[in-house]
Amino acid sequence: MADAKQGTPITYAGGRYTVPNDPVIPFIEGDGTGRDIWKASRKVFDAAVAKASGGKRRIVWKEMLAGEKAFNATGNWLPDATIADIKTYRVGIKGPLTTPVGGGIRSLNVALRMILDLYACIRPVRYFAGVPSPMKRPQDLDVVIFRENTEDVYAGIEFAAGTAEAKRLREFLMVELKSKAIREDSAIGIKPMSQFGSQRLVRRALQFALDKQRPSVTLVHKGNIQKFTEGAFRDWGYQLAKAEFAGRVVAEEDVPAAGAGGKVVVKDRIADSTFQQMLLRPKEYSVLATPNLNGDYLSDACAAQVGGLGMAPGANIGDGYAVFEATHGTAPKYADLDKINPCSLILSGVMMFEHLGWDDVARSIVAGIEGALGAKRVTYDIARQMEGATEVGTSAFADQIVGHLG
Ligand code: NAP
Repeated sequence: MADAKQGTPITYAGGRYTVPNDPVIPFIEGDGTGRDIWKASRKVFDAAVAKASGGKRRIVWKEMLAGEKAFNATGNWLPDATIADIKTYRVGIKGPLTTPVGGGIRSLNVALRMILDLYACIRPVRYFAGVPSPMKRPQDLDVVIFRENTEDVYAGIEFAAGTAEAKRLREFLMVELKSKAIREDSAIGIKPMSQFGSQRLVRRALQFALDKQRPSVTLVHKGNIQKFTEGAFRDWGYQLAKAEFAGRVVAEEDVPAAGAGGKVVVKDRIADSTFQQMLLRPKEYSVLATPNLNGDYLSDACAAQVGGLGMAPGANIGDGYAVFEATHGTAPKYADLDKINPCSLILSGVMMFEHLGWDDVARSIVAGIEGALGAKRVTYDIARQMEGATEVGTSAFADQIVGHLG
């Protein structure tokens, strides 16, 4: 055990975390506006932990370098020490990072997900009263999206048009595999989706629905067109539900007239239809499990329905490792102006506390955000569309949240 000043690492064994009262949690402050929102978020987190635990628990924050700050200090965008810290301390939180342009690492976020095998991207989307929304009844949407995070077109297997590789691959497909004709000047991308990768994602979504008593899990796919990838995602999902969750889940078509009897209903929808369902019948959906690209589109579209990216949290979770993150970018034009909305990162912290089993802290922060919104003292993005609102800066908004902690 480390001494009290240094904190104690979280450990993981047998699929469970052991969380001490003084966990060390590494953080990446983020570039651009990351600096402002991290400062504000940390203040809210520390106050909520102290309040919910009566001073018995605290977090020992440990800074990790990544992005521009890391590059300026070490010449490396993603130092090995940062990966080592997440491996040691297991659960971390990060602000947005500038993606280096030209050469080198494609995206620091994608690199982190791949290196740590953070295979589930989880994005809860719910409405907070008072936040401006384009919907008539934004409160009807309350979904948690589980997006597969390592496969699909994000695997990065692509060949540019006109290259020798694209030419060879085209010939191999048409001649050896007797595929349909591919135009000579085509670029070619490959979409790998495995049974293992799909089922570990669906397993997490089903377990989450059971743990949180959510009524359904919907497998969102494009299997009508891409039968062996997206169609297989659906089939593997149902197979897993039957094999590992028998008695606790029920397929939609087998639900008796009297209702599901507390079991989680497993259903599937074609991706395009899901977008219109989210707009027209959001109440029918609770947990969505989806391959990578569908999930990317769907989570931003759903976030827009409840007030946009400033309120959208996210988590990247693997087995025994998790990184929680604001879903928006660095919004560089507002950097260091104490202006933007810190809620995306604060709500990512709420997810982190829930993940660690500190639900009391999570509830306290949610009450704080609801209170701050109710007081109508909010950042510019909300104030510009909220009647009777007073615009305040990032830090003053965080003070409002602290003042309303539950
Ligand atoms: P962005 O940083 O998300 O900002 C786009 C716009 O979204 C902002 O100008 C602002 O709109 C609004 N916005 C974003 N966050 C907000 C917040 N917290 N509160 C209020 N409004 C917010 O997107 P970008 O300009 O395309 O990307 C900038 C950099 O971020 C790039 O280097 C990109 O690669 C990187 N990026 C990083 C991540 C990540 O680390 N996870 C994700 C995406 C992008 P208004 O102008 O209307 O005020």
